[in-house]
Amino acid sequence: MARRQETGGGLSTAEYLERQEVRMHLRNLQEMHNNAYKQRKDKWFEKNPEQQYFSPTLEETRKDCRLEEWLWYFVSRIFDRTPQQRFQDERHPSYGWNHKSNVHSIEEPCKEGCRFWNKEGRIEDIEVLEDYKDYNRYQEVFNVWSEQ
Ligand SMILES: [Zn+2]
Repeated sequence: MARRQETGGGLSTAEYLERQEVRMHLRNLQEMHNNAYKQRKDKWFEKNPEQQYFSPTLEETRKDCRLEEWLWYFVSRIFDRTPQQRFQDERHPSYGWNHKSNVHSIEEPCKEGCRFWNKEGRIEDIEVLEDYKDYNRYQEVFNVWSEQ
């Protein structure tokens, strides 16, 4: 049996190394995002030399945003909030209005049949992924993610 070496925080060496490896992958992912974002931005300024600020339209973003870029946005959102926290965020949006719903308008109070009728709930990772459905290579990521 491998001897358990404490490295602080109650982690064994193996656990510590695993976390370091995960951190390294996350840093790589972030770096790939930074590069892809910079390339998209530089190209955009070549096409729009009169513009002072990077302000692509939603259509341009969907068309030009590469997998490396939006995958990082998606992964950060997944790590940032639990499914329960996401539900609360959408149930009580920070801008002070009511939540978006399929069964009532933003002005109306919540009613039965609304997704947010119950006080507790979850917004799953796969639902966050669906926000990127118009982006490049979405279907490939969706297929891989659903296999897990
Ligand atoms: Zn509601």
